[in-house]
Amino acid sequence: MLKTKLSTLVTLVTLAVLVLFGYLFLRDLQGPSLSFSADGKELGQKIGPRKEITVIAADTSGVRSVEVSVRRGDKTLELYEKQFEGSPRSVEYAFTLEDAKLPEGGFTLIVTAHDASLAGFNKGNSTTREIQLAMDNKQPRIVVETYPPAVHRGGSALIVYTASEALTKTGVYVDSVFFPAFEQKDNTYACLFAFPESISAAEYFPQIYAQDTAGNITESRLIVNAVNKNYPGDKVKITDTFLSKKAEELKKIVPYKETSLEQYLEANGVIRKQNDLLIRDICIKSATAKPKWEGDFKILPRSAVKAQFGDRRTYYLNDKEIDKQVHLGYDFASVARAEVPAGNDGTVVFADYNGIYGNLVILEHGLGLNSIYSHLTDFRVKAGDTVKKGQIIGTTGTTGLAVGDHVHFGVYVGGVAVQPKEWIDPKWVRNNISVRLSKAR
Ligand SMILES: [Zn+2]
Repeated sequence: MLKTKLSTLVTLVTLAVLVLFGYLFLRDLQGPSLSFSADGKELGQKIGPRKEITVIAADTSGVRSVEVSVRRGDKTLELYEKQFEGSPRSVEYAFTLEDAKLPEGGFTLIVTAHDASLAGFNKGNSTTREIQLAMDNKQPRIVVETYPPAVHRGGSALIVYTASEALTKTGVYVDSVFFPAFEQKDNTYACLFAFPESISAAEYFPQIYAQDTAGNITESRLIVNAVNKNYPGDKVKITDTFLSKKAEELKKIVPYKETSLEQYLEANGVIRKQNDLLIRDICIKSATAKPKWEGDFKILPRSAVKAQFGDRRTYYLNDKEIDKQVHLGYDFASVARAEVPAGNDGTVVFADYNGIYGNLVILEHGLGLNSIYSHLTDFRVKAGDTVKKGQIIGTTGTTGLAVGDHVHFGVYVGGVAVQPKEWIDPKWVRNNISVRLSKAR
């Protein structure tokens, strides 16, 4: 009796163990899912040695490892074996094929991922994917068709160039600032870039940059005739009358500071930076490939220049120095509430209040060129409108931190403020821009 009971128990336990093992072994019979990407997209056919490939593997039992090898002819080279601690449910593993030192031409990329299940006597299930790729070791070749005659500190320049193959990213770098080039109808690339007023000729080393679809990069020094310029100082006198006149607007811009002076200093420093970043952001994001402007930029008619681009301003309150800033545009004043014309053909990409700039219109003219009109009393256009050169976009005023009624006119290249003097000069625009672009249009 007891024996029978015991044997039943043993049978049951054995069965339970078998079921458990069966469950553990059989519940997951599939290897991880596997996909590849480069630059967040599907892998293209051509791949360069420096292009990053990302393997995305996922499995309900967790991913234990990813192995990468390459095969060329009958030779297989094991490149990487990556173990994932804790076997997460999904992993991303990025690598390049630089170490494989593959010659030009076809090869097979082999990736195997193991899951963390007990299947295969604790080796896990695996998935292997093979993809046929072609190694492309060649850097794109750039031929610059037209160089600028000279680039002045604070000024703009245009280059037009051709490339030996299709490019995914190209333009000019000045330090870490990237000025994108735009492909034109005739397959040339046109790039507007700046010589920022904040650096001197000794620090100015523009680099031309091109990346092909395989991820190969060409970077070379762009030799230009860089002309230095010293920007003069300018005194800006702030009075108590001005602060009390601006009390309401200052409170609107800086509600978290107590006195008008504290509000003014915060607005002129911290808020100015935020406002400038917004302008930069809008300029960069709004850029389109086709040049929309024709010739030089129109300015406020019958006006006087009240302040210049690049002025090193020192601010005084009752003869006491309180702040320093750089003025990034031209101030034009005429009669109060004078009608402000669009400098050139373009698209309105911003028509709203922007802190110290007050009511601000930003136009986009193509190739990363923008113009701005600030301190306006009112708007005659809205974002999305197409405007023609000379079309009235608003009226002058004192919104923002303006002292007297005027329009602050600024020109931006790739989001960097540049000397408007060049863009309002017909001769400069013709010699530096129009004749060089005419081929591309
Ligand atoms: Zn101004």
